[in-house]
Amino acid sequence: MSELHVTVLGAGLAGCEAALWLAGHGVKVTLYEQKPVRFSPAHKSANFAELICSNSLKAERLDSASGLLKAEMRQMGSSLLPAAEVARVAAGGALAVDRDVFSAEVTRRVEAEPNITVRREEVCTIDEASPILVATGPLTEGALAEKIAALTGSAEMHFYDAVAPIVTAESLDYEKVFAASRYGRGDDDYLNCPFNKAEYEAFYQALATAERAPLHDFDKGAENPSVAESASAPAKPAKDGGLTVYEGCMPIEVMAGRGADTMRYGPLRPVGLTDPRTGHRPWANIQLRAENKERTLYNIVGFQTNLKWGEQKRVFSMIPGLEHAEFVRYGVMHRNTFLDSPKVLTQALCLAAHPNVFFAGQITGFEGYMESAACGLLAARNIYARLMGVTLPPPPADTMCGALVRYITAENKNFQPMGANMGILPSLENRPRDKRERYQAVAERAVSSFSAWVAAQAEP
Ligand SMILES: Cc1cc2nc3c(=O)[nH]c(=O)nc-3n(C[C@H](O)[C@H](O)[C@H](O)COP(=O)(O)OP(=O)(O)OC[C@H]3O[C@@H](n4cnc5c(N)ncnc54)[C@H](O)[C@@H]3O)c2cc1C
Repeated sequence: MSELHVTVLGAGLAGCEAALWLAGHGVKVTLYEQKPVRFSPAHKSANFAELICSNSLKAERLDSASGLLKAEMRQMGSSLLPAAEVARVAAGGALAVDRDVFSAEVTRRVEAEPNITVRREEVCTIDEASPILVATGPLTEGALAEKIAALTGSAEMHFYDAVAPIVTAESLDYEKVFAASRYGRGDDDYLNCPFNKAEYEAFYQALATAERAPLHDFDKGAENPSVAESASAPAKPAKDGGLTVYEGCMPIEVMAGRGADTMRYGPLRPVGLTDPRTGHRPWANIQLRAENKERTLYNIVGFQTNLKWGEQKRVFSMIPGLEHAEFVRYGVMHRNTFLDSPKVLTQALCLAAHPNVFFAGQITGFEGYMESAACGLLAARNIYARLMGVTLPPPPADTMCGALVRYITAENKNFQPMGANMGILPSLENRPRDKRERYQAVAERAVSSFSAWVAAQAEP
């Protein structure tokens, strides 16, 4: 058999998973990565698989959507999950990582793979003479973005999300902050900042009227001038200002703009916690999650934001325990780009009109770190099947990967990216009443269907 070769564009979560899987199956891969020659506005490290916002890869329990996705990724031979184990930091029932250790470990694995040749350069075009995988992420821009728009024949779509601030552990007030996980799950992995009613109301007022940062020039494209206009205004509900936000990563000021109590039912919910100072449940509560293994840095959970940095310091210092907090990174907000996948992508994750051009990751609408990585594995399997001269059926509809593939390729006039969730899986014939039992049964069904799908595929 002659040598098999695939080009992968982008060494992010999707690109690295795909490249490592293909290389492990004997395919020669050329992996292009623009860093450190060029950085997107959100990427800072020269290493691969960079986590640009939260350091959480979400829940691990099989009866959760994210846990089920991970189980399917393991069945497909994920390389990023073992890398995450190396970088794991304590986070209750979730898999959270030290982002630097994680990226370094993925980079080491890619560079150690003899079948992968890494090229550190910006790619500006797509050569479709042979199979090529585009995994350049939600911040794809410039000539390559134009090339994609030309190939897909559709205008790009943009939406917005944001990064949470990080504070040092030593600058917190431990007279107020206490360690605990909700409902006692985990080993007191989170630090909690409890609010009484008056503190919460003052904080809410300050947040809802705080000044937002103007968007960067790259964000102000002529494509969507209404976004630039709304961004410097006080916090408003997402749809009021023409600002479209990534629901899973909504700026806290946008959430505050939805009503005084909205945050108390979201990231500031106090349920499952008792403030040891009062012996009662707080009125509201903010959690801090460790950013690194050493626990010297904490991010403010759910506090992605586009407030001006001075405003972040002023408003977030009103959080009980953060009065003297040292901010090592402030929140920022960025553009996010994805294909109109229902119109242009097949279930094999290639363009219907250009079958050699495959896509993977957030750019397809698989939303989230692990979803992007899972999409990389799916694309790799489809490309491999193509090289073998066969067509891979999509994963079964009752699996998380199968449901996501169907979601992004099914007709949808208002297509938005979608993360793993139990709601997109078909319901059971005999549904247990208890939600936990139901999710467990749905997950077990998915694992069994998925393993049959994996087993049916020819190995080299
Ligand atoms: C600001 C922001 C915050 C986010 N926060 C979260 C979060 O907290 N949790 C979550 O689950 N998801 C989050 N997401 C969504 C998504 O999970 C991440 O963007 C994820 O990194 C997507 O993985 P990917 O592999 O598709 O792309 P990326 O991880 O972005 O990888 C793409 C790679 O391609 C490279 N590249 C780009 N263009 C070129 C080119 N022309 N030539 C060569 N190389 C190129 C980039 O440098 C990068 O290394 C966020 C997205 C954004 C934009």
